[in-house]
Amino acid sequence: MRVQGVGVGRGVVTGPVLRMPEPLPEPSDRPRSNTAAWESSRAEAALRETAHDLSQHAEHTTGEARAVLEAQAQMAQDPSLLTDVRSRIAAQKTAERAIFEAFHTFQQMLLSMGGYMAERASDLGDLSQRTIAHLRGVPVPGIPDSDTPFILVAHDLAPADTVGLDLERVLGLITSGGGPTSHTAILARAKALVAVVGVGDVDALVDGAEVLLDAAEGTVTIDPTPEDVQTARRRLGRRRSKVPVGPGTLADDTPIPLLANLTRADEAQAARELGAEGVGLLRTELLFLDADRAPSIAEQVEHYQRIFEEFPGRRVIVRTLDAGADKPLAFLPVDAAEPNPALGMRGLRAFRGDDSILRDQLRALAIAADSCRADVRVMAPMIADAAETARFVLLARELGLGTAGVMAEVPSAALLAAQILGIADFVSIGTNDLTQYTLAADRQLGALAEYQDPWHPAVLRLIRMIGDAGGQSGKPVGVCGEAAGDPLLAVILVGLGVTSLSMAPEALADVRTELRQHTLEHARLLASRALAAATPAEARLVMTEG
Ligand code: PEP
Ligand code: MG
Repeated sequence: MRVQGVGVGRGVVTGPVLRMPEPLPEPSDRPRSNTAAWESSRAEAALRETAHDLSQHAEHTTGEARAVLEAQAQMAQDPSLLTDVRSRIAAQKTAERAIFEAFHTFQQMLLSMGGYMAERASDLGDLSQRTIAHLRGVPVPGIPDSDTPFILVAHDLAPADTVGLDLERVLGLITSGGGPTSHTAILARAKALVAVVGVGDVDALVDGAEVLLDAAEGTVTIDPTPEDVQTARRRLGRRRSKVPVGPGTLADDTPIPLLANLTRADEAQAARELGAEGVGLLRTELLFLDADRAPSIAEQVEHYQRIFEEFPGRRVIVRTLDAGADKPLAFLPVDAAEPNPALGMRGLRAFRGDDSILRDQLRALAIAADSCRADVRVMAPMIADAAETARFVLLARELGLGTAGVMAEVPSAALLAAQILGIADFVSIGTNDLTQYTLAADRQLGALAEYQDPWHPAVLRLIRMIGDAGGQSGKPVGVCGEAAGDPLLAVILVGLGVTSLSMAPEALADVRTELRQHTLEHARLLASRALAAATPAEARLVMTEG
């Protein structure tokens, strides 16, 4: 049996699946019906089981992860926590509710202490869920604890979960939700993890079922035959690119710099080995997903320096925090109850009232840039018009950053590209959001994956407007959305006026190979044909039919 989704990358992997249980809801606060002694003994047993699981898990782990697991096991057995749970049970709470409240109080206390203690606060939420799961006799929520490698099946993952996936154990990822440009897909691509997202129905994928994940085809085959596996591997082998690593150029030697999208410093070396000529998008919000308080200037400088030092003399484009909607940051003053977060206080808009966090970030970037030889440039996310552009660009310059640009990911920014480029030093097109907002199709929603397609002629027309404005102003126009990593679409983008492309490092080789097949004139001809298409499928035909 085979199910279809949207593949991330091109890899192929086989293995047994494990499903990720959904988070448990908050236990109700109705009074207990059992005796206090009975509820207390249940709570104590569940805490012991939690500590035991974590200690066992620690034994099979090394380094920092082991220390974290051991510390968590100790926290679950903390005598003051136990006393607190007992006194709550004495005050009529059920064991579940007492555990929930006790961990919550403990968590608030750590947060108020700040520093290292505050960073440990999120571990307590995990401990609370684990213990309540034991009390209810249901699977522990979160990434399954398995000592043998598996393919993870989930509805969707939080960005922090995806970033933290242990690639020694997680061979691949299948999600029922999420579109091709969801942050789960982007982070999986950054980790070079084979993934198929937006599969819809994953009921047939029971724990232990053997599957073949083929990302290039976007398929999940349950109980594959040896021939299925061989065919997929052979296809993968044929697709491997042969062009040597080097700068991106067209057939007529027009340079098209090929840059990397990075989330962390430890991805930089692999990106350079794959030929990244610099960084076209550093998603800074992903550096601080776990932080409960805003990182200090000194902490940020350290993070940024580590990345800048990897690219001496190269351009590194840093995007200021793009939080809100699907990438919440605990320390940003964003109203969690907004009815439409993707249309809310997201990106630069999160700093409308109080911009101190943005100012600190720009100061940290200026300090880090001054201490390294990278050509550091900054850009702001979610810019709608010239007024927002001016606000950001002036602030960046005031705080010591010489080159400041903006992302074009809201359709209005494309319509007003000439005005925006009159102020900003460059524009980088975020095709993921530009597609979501142009077609009104939530990028998190697998069911609307067909509309999350940057080949859509409506999106191509907006990109052409930005490309034209770039040509007229003589300022660079890059693309850093997932579209840049699609080799055939990369040619069309260049034909529409795009001057650099930034992508997950593993996509660099294929894009480099394809660009070398076309002159600028030919790319422009293909782009004009794609613009005339009525559907994404018709636009694709321009490339496949020559
Ligand atoms: C985009 O929207 O295309 C983009 C690059 O930003 P992000 O995917 O982080 O929203
Ligand atoms: Mg975006």
